[in-house]
Amino acid sequence: GSLPGWDEVDRLVIEAHAYAKASTDGEIATYIPRLAAVDPELFGVSVAEVDGAVHTAGDAEVAFSIQSISKAFVYALVIERLGHEAVRERVGVNNTGLPFNSVVAIELNNGHPMNPMVNAGAIATTALVPAASAEERWAAIQDGLSAFAGRRLELDGEVYTSEADTNQRNRAIGTLLQAYGRIDADPLAAVDVYTRQCSLLVTAADLAVMGATLADGGVNPVTGQRVVSASVARDTLAVLASTGLYERSGEWLFEIGLPGKSGVAGGIVTVSPGKGAIGVFSPRLDPAGNSVRGQLATRFLSQALGLDVFASD
Ligand code: GLU
Repeated sequence: GSLPGWDEVDRLVIEAHAYAKASTDGEIATYIPRLAAVDPELFGVSVAEVDGAVHTAGDAEVAFSIQSISKAFVYALVIERLGHEAVRERVGVNNTGLPFNSVVAIELNNGHPMNPMVNAGAIATTALVPAASAEERWAAIQDGLSAFAGRRLELDGEVYTSEADTNQRNRAIGTLLQAYGRIDADPLAAVDVYTRQCSLLVTAADLAVMGATLADGGVNPVTGQRVVSASVARDTLAVLASTGLYERSGEWLFEIGLPGKSGVAGGIVTVSPGKGAIGVFSPRLDPAGNSVRGQLATRFLSQALGLDVFASD
């Protein structure tokens, strides 16, 4: 079936927000200095339906940096251009079971990044965006993610500078991938583009529309623009199901029953294929790096809207 009527979804979005707001658990990410300056109380919830309806509650229009959630959409753009098999060979689709910025995971797998949702795989994926220069690569990513959102997404210059000054580990990962022959482009330029893509500003409502574009077979339900093919949208969701929430990916799939992707600024996008998507933002994170309130609100909505793909009733 599809989602209940407009009024019912709207009511449940407000209820999910009120329910999850009670939690003050978790800690803000501080390893990117600029992220530590955010108001920890911010909390927005949004649902976008494949018919284009968008529901919001709380701070759903407050902008924050997309961070790792960008990985999902850049992956979709790359497989749209190169095909899934080419990327699978180079980047893979299996969970590492290790933290998102692990160097050990690369070493354990002979230089293979394992999947596009950890930093190694994301940097390798960004390097695969067809472009003649790093500037062109960045432009393609900014344009592509904007098409998913249905509006022009802009860079947060402060977040970008703050991460660029402190991303020695990501630069090491890029260089290590080069040593293993997993990056053809200049690895430090690829890391720089990756850092920019992570600094794009989105809102919870943007995330819901971006996710709904994947739910809608690659067509943005608000603008009507086809961003990627239906098979690319499908492949992206399959990868997210096993890798989207860091080391909690298995627990997330078990609890919520939907593919999702989180980022360390506190955003999470969760997709219900054929129906719509949930976008949430709240900065306090669990130890793996996932928004605590965001997970609570998403679980509430998955259950209340009957979205769990494994449930037969
Ligand atoms: N830009 C962040 C990093 O590379 C993204 C991390 C995340 O959201 O998981 O460290």
